[in-house]
Amino acid sequence: MKLLFIASEVDGLVKTGGLADVAYALPKALQEMGHDVRIVMPAYRQIQDLWQEWPAQSLDCKLSFFNTVTVHCRRGSHESLPVIAVEHPASFDRPGIYDDGNFAYPDNALRFGILSKAALDWCQQEGWVPDIVHGNDWQSALTGFYLAEHFGQDPFFEKTRSVLSIHNGAYQMHCDAGWLAQLGIDQRFYRPADFEDSGHLNLLKGSLGFADGVTTVSPGYASELITPMGGHGLDHKYRALPEPLVGILNGCDYDQWNPETDPWIAAKYATIEEDGKAKCKQSLQKELNLEPNPDTPLLGSICRLVDQKGIHLMIPVILKLMQSHDCQFVMLGSGDENLANQLTYIQRQYPHRFHFFNGYDIGLSHRIEAGLDAFLMPSVFEPCGLNQIYSLRYGTLPLVREVGGLQDTVVRLSQSQRNLKTATGFMFQELTEEALLAETERLLDVYKNKPSQWRSMQHNAMQQRFSWKKSATAYERFYRRLLKSAPNQHPLLTRMATEAEATG
Ligand code: ADP
Repeated sequence: MKLLFIASEVDGLVKTGGLADVAYALPKALQEMGHDVRIVMPAYRQIQDLWQEWPAQSLDCKLSFFNTVTVHCRRGSHESLPVIAVEHPASFDRPGIYDDGNFAYPDNALRFGILSKAALDWCQQEGWVPDIVHGNDWQSALTGFYLAEHFGQDPFFEKTRSVLSIHNGAYQMHCDAGWLAQLGIDQRFYRPADFEDSGHLNLLKGSLGFADGVTTVSPGYASELITPMGGHGLDHKYRALPEPLVGILNGCDYDQWNPETDPWIAAKYATIEEDGKAKCKQSLQKELNLEPNPDTPLLGSICRLVDQKGIHLMIPVILKLMQSHDCQFVMLGSGDENLANQLTYIQRQYPHRFHFFNGYDIGLSHRIEAGLDAFLMPSVFEPCGLNQIYSLRYGTLPLVREVGGLQDTVVRLSQSQRNLKTATGFMFQELTEEALLAETERLLDVYKNKPSQWRSMQHNAMQQRFSWKKSATAYERFYRRLLKSAPNQHPLLTRMATEAEATG
């Protein structure tokens, strides 16, 4: 199949979150299966050194009748994956990817609208007919809309089907309806059934009605998105999809996340019996200026500092742990300044037992995964989550909330503890500080008082494999199903086509 993958970030080039991991690993796995995959992404300033060496081709990106934007498509590759970087300095030559450090760029809808449309225009210019165009999150959701609306009658794309993957349904891009015209979204689609959302334009909401197929990154999250509680206000849209929403669990890139080969960590290890993991813990304690005690349980977390990650639960629990338990805690993250200040405050109080690294540091994230005893992920919601999967591979037991992809990837130690042969971590349900604290205390009890149980859970955890090949095979099956079926017939588009025919 010819697969065009459109993404706003790609691991190894530009990354702010899990979307980047998928946008690299999934195309790679599909390519390894023999498909012709190409990635379209913005030519950001941050990777200029790379793409400025690539040959450029001028392209007129026709967003609307009166808004044609000239871009340059730079063709190169990233680790054997063909990449088309869309160069449009007014949009992508900026200090940030999505924001200026404080505020989202006000023209984000247009910036990524250009990306979404240029991907299709590039195919036409090249004469390369994709079987599937695969958009990801709101940033490239419009590709499916443009395919259906702008190119609906174009024989070039007659056989092409569009897929939209939801990596985080909370981010939808609400913006002023004034952008409609520049984006080439006909006013008729600005209605509650499509792009209109409480007086604003909602790009994800509207785009959901045009994709031929919609997927998300875990079965658990798929079942949440169709509920009023878990659908981020769009549950009715997910329920109304012509092809039911499919949850395909993300894989893990074990080329990067493997304690046997990881170049970032202090000592490599293949099993928990070797002293590698203990050395990693010792080295992490030293690096972060924590008391060098091998028996003190070392817990931690790595995440964007946003409400979604349950930091507001973690902060009071960390304080209680510091006050009344013998343990250490490491936190790596950046984001919300208020949350960062609270974490900095705890560090000042307990400098040798709590460490907060305010920033984004890939090497440190690997050393934390290897050095911790347990990894906390008390997310409010979690589409898939990657760090709990990495943790399993490093024999670092995850403690997660029973939501989304977390419940699909961690096997909780039951209350009776009879499932020791399969348990890989700890899980709690209620979104309260008390519930998180109770499960953390349970974890600490197993760590301190039942070392053989802890060890057997580490064994189970390290044997888990979430292969991208398996995920890619599921996507491949989904693509083939779409290719065999008729395109999604948006009712308004059908009516508009009939009216146009009637008026000649
Ligand atoms: P999300 O996409 O919601 O941020 P995921 O768990 O799916 O959450 O993916 C987050 C990815 O970003 C992981 O690979 C994680 O290790 C990485 N990450 C998040 N914050 C940091 C940070 N401060 N430093 C290094 N890596 C980080």
